[in-house]
Amino acid sequence: MSCASSPACTQKKVVYSNHAAKALKHPANVKFVGDKMKADLHSHTHYSKDSITRPRTWARAARRAGMGAIALTDHETTRGWKPAKEECKRQGVLFIPGIELRVREDDRDVMEVLGLFLTEEPRRRGVESLDEVREQDGLVVVPHPFDRRWNRLKDQPLGRFEKLIDGVEGFNARVFKKEYDKQAVSWALKNNKFQTGSGDAHIPREVGMGYTLAPCGNDLEELRRALKKRATRGEGRKSNILLYLPAILANRGVWPWFLDL
Ligand SMILES: [Zn+2]
Repeated sequence: MSCASSPACTQKKVVYSNHAAKALKHPANVKFVGDKMKADLHSHTHYSKDSITRPRTWARAARRAGMGAIALTDHETTRGWKPAKEECKRQGVLFIPGIELRVREDDRDVMEVLGLFLTEEPRRRGVESLDEVREQDGLVVVPHPFDRRWNRLKDQPLGRFEKLIDGVEGFNARVFKKEYDKQAVSWALKNNKFQTGSGDAHIPREVGMGYTLAPCGNDLEELRRALKKRATRGEGRKSNILLYLPAILANRGVWPWFLDL
């Protein structure tokens, strides 16, 4: 049964909608802003080498941040899917299986991509991984496409991969130069791609700092349709450079494993 036709779901939505006015002032605590659901579409747990968050803490942080849905996109692995999905169910947050992959050419990184709504971990890597995401009926999203720290496409326009891309991040909480977000939004509009927003969280506090606003009910298929219709946009607040420290230490293997912030 779709969400719209389910009385329980409609009721829930009305409750959220009653908070809509409040939500505009305090969007951190509610899943809906008006008729739009909040979904963080790029996020990490400690299955990524540079993240410290346990799946249970991650899902709870998503609920507290008011996310209707959240995608787990650990670097090169899907090992966190099972525990994260189970905890999301307990927390009443919709779980989206995803991954973040590095695309390399001639032995150098050229960009990172997110595969969303996957059914299994892509076996192929590099540019071919994008085909595999699409074969699974997943969506290919380029995170922080214009931030030079991650994407080194200065001399190779993003357009080179344009046909393989479904959407780009129009807001990423870890992209400090707003100019880069603006460039991403312009590129999406010009190339007919959808826009997302994300916290790109590596610690619990960053979960839901950025999110996608999607005109849909509390339902993953509706969210997916809203993305495909290019009816979404990204928003949120920026992270703080100090919050990078745990991720940097974790990446070097010197973060105490028992600290989960
Ligand atoms: Zn990431």
